[in-house]
Amino acid sequence: MSTKSYIVGFPRIGEQRELKKSLESFWAGNCSFDTVEEVASELKSRHWNYQKEAGINFISSNDFSLYDTMLDTAVMLNAIPKRFQALKDETLYFAMARGNKESVAMEMTKWFNTNYHYIVPELSLEDEYRLNAAKIINEYNEAKAQGIKTKINLIGPLTFLGLSKRVDRGDTYELHAKILPIYEALLQEIATLDDRVTLQIDEPIFVKDNEPKVLSLIKPTYDRLAAVSENIDIIVTTYFEHSNEATKVLVNTPVWGIGLDFLHGAKNSESLELIANSGKQLIAGVVDGRNIWKNDIQTTLGLLENIAKVVSKENIIISSSCSLLHTPFTLKYEEKMDAEIKNWLSYAVEKLDEVSLISKLFFKGEESLDESEKSALEENKKANESRRTSTRIHDQSVQKRVDDFKRLSREGAYEERIKLQKEILGYKELATTTIGSFPQTPELRKARREFKNGLISKEEYEAQMKAYIDECVAFQEECDLEILVHGEPERNDMVEYFGEQLKGYGFSQNGWVQSYGSRCVKPPFIYGDISRPEAMTVGWTTYAQSKTEKPMKGMLTGPVTILNWSFVRDDKPRDEVSKQIAVALSDEIDDLQNAGIRIIQVDEAAFKEGYPLREENIKSYEEWAVRDFKICVSSARKETQIHTHMCYSEFNDIIKTIEAMDADVISIETARSGNELLKIFKEVGYKQEVGPGVYDIHSPRVPSVEEIVTQIKLLLEVLPKEQLWINPDCGLKTRKWEEVKPSLKNMVEAVKIVRNELAD
Ligand code: GLN
Ligand code: ZN
Repeated sequence: MSTKSYIVGFPRIGEQRELKKSLESFWAGNCSFDTVEEVASELKSRHWNYQKEAGINFISSNDFSLYDTMLDTAVMLNAIPKRFQALKDETLYFAMARGNKESVAMEMTKWFNTNYHYIVPELSLEDEYRLNAAKIINEYNEAKAQGIKTKINLIGPLTFLGLSKRVDRGDTYELHAKILPIYEALLQEIATLDDRVTLQIDEPIFVKDNEPKVLSLIKPTYDRLAAVSENIDIIVTTYFEHSNEATKVLVNTPVWGIGLDFLHGAKNSESLELIANSGKQLIAGVVDGRNIWKNDIQTTLGLLENIAKVVSKENIIISSSCSLLHTPFTLKYEEKMDAEIKNWLSYAVEKLDEVSLISKLFFKGEESLDESEKSALEENKKANESRRTSTRIHDQSVQKRVDDFKRLSREGAYEERIKLQKEILGYKELATTTIGSFPQTPELRKARREFKNGLISKEEYEAQMKAYIDECVAFQEECDLEILVHGEPERNDMVEYFGEQLKGYGFSQNGWVQSYGSRCVKPPFIYGDISRPEAMTVGWTTYAQSKTEKPMKGMLTGPVTILNWSFVRDDKPRDEVSKQIAVALSDEIDDLQNAGIRIIQVDEAAFKEGYPLREENIKSYEEWAVRDFKICVSSARKETQIHTHMCYSEFNDIIKTIEAMDADVISIETARSGNELLKIFKEVGYKQEVGPGVYDIHSPRVPSVEEIVTQIKLLLEVLPKEQLWINPDCGLKTRKWEEVKPSLKNMVEAVKIVRNELAD
């Protein structure tokens, strides 16, 4: 039997972020669009060749994009919002993505539960849709000219509709009848490209809890698409969860294959019987496209053999679990990484070899391997063995402490705590504070960089940080804020800062993953049991406290956010990793309070991001996420006030969970929604104190005193003054001092005005 290896999609930003650099240079007016296209062609070609050299049989075209594939799909359908219709070509494309002088950009939002963000298409019943197939056809031919026959990737019509929005109100699926004929026309064109063309249609929307209405569209859609041409083999691909409801329907359509994720959607195995009976190809996603760990080939072969008990081997194709877009590019440039740790990892390029080797082993057996493949298999066994046993990963004392850790909540009921806290802290109604960070200046970044590279001494570095803290404290005193912060000058990033000080955390040099457009993030990774060798924030916070009589708020990132913004080890359940972080942070809180810090904020900016895609998994996520937040703050004495901050405004679905976290004060991001979204706090009788952001820090605009007075009054219509805090809606690190100073002064001024009016 011949090998059959498949990659759902490949990262496009380039192994040295070449696409990012080229795009940004073009946007800055420093190079022509021709140059961008040259870079793009080079990257596509290089990426195809990586896959070809690894022996991958199914290599994609149209997985490349200059910005985003949802945006490409909108352009393919000519779904151009009115405000951009006068524009053409790349000017149009980038204006849709990034806005221009006249028009705001299209909205961007998270792609399922990944950290990739797509552009949200704007649809309307009156728009004329028509086919614009050029990109797809050209990319196919581009690969073909280089001797590579690709499968064509395409975002499916149901996912496209499900992720779009209607500008004329109404349900996007009402546009199904307008969109589907365009897809049919596209397939007609594709059918002329070659005798046989493989088409991968991505329908990840099928992994959500779909309404019957949506499920009922699957059959007519795929019956019609499959009827377009005999020449096209259609594969419908899903990832990130199981899609059993959709599979049940798809097996009764003429599609050629079904792609399923067996790692993040283990329940897909419930569909094997149906797939076997349908005789369709099963593209089995078994190499993790969302994480950075080396595949455990023996375990994977076991999984595949189980699948093969139901689906016959001839009908199985070995694949990545999703597009490799969500992993960094290649380990090649990780020159500084510890060799043992590096040996546990596998980025996109290395995953190609894994898929290929697994495919060979599965279809042809170990005897078919050549010498280099044999040694690769040996290496793989060794690396996995070392991960199972290494003392750098497995720390008995941490495991024991975390297993035995039974302090699940802090002392005292909220009512008792808040009374004590108010006495000790003596803050007024409508107390003023900020979310933590102050402007990150180029000088700060330079100092951190120079210290890291050994160019300045520890003393010099600390002196610079302290000077910044002095300035922050002095400014907050001057404008009369009541609860102060140190400004976070020492933090590069709210997760990395803690990761760098926790044992069990690793960092890459070049582990960039596309977040949106040209933007990439470099998440740290958790490889081992987490512990805290020493205090992480106490020095800076107590220094800041020594500069003021007012309460200085300690500032930590919460366990759930640390987890959600990192690559997490796959050899332990997420909730256990999260509990380890929580226990480590609870020690930090204890150290802070023992050092005289009376208020501590635990940021959970990414709490909502971790929500599972399926309703059935939400309860268990909420349980451990709340448990770990509470463990983290369980060391706080009654009189230590715990704040939390969340970068959201929509709490309707999760308000009970937020309440269960039992923070004394929560600050949230409601500035852009007036008081509408705050109402839920009143409706459910939320008792704890709330700081709804009174102005939007995401814009450089300085809010006037009057505006903030109005905003505070709106808040007072919903919640009583005893329960309200006044603060900006997020940290100030991305703003400039020129914006921050007048904004905060106006905020404090506004509070004084409102307090006076209330006193009259
Ligand atoms: N304390 C952090 C800051 O002020 C919180 C940022 C966030 O939640 N995104 O920057
Ligand atoms: Zn925030």
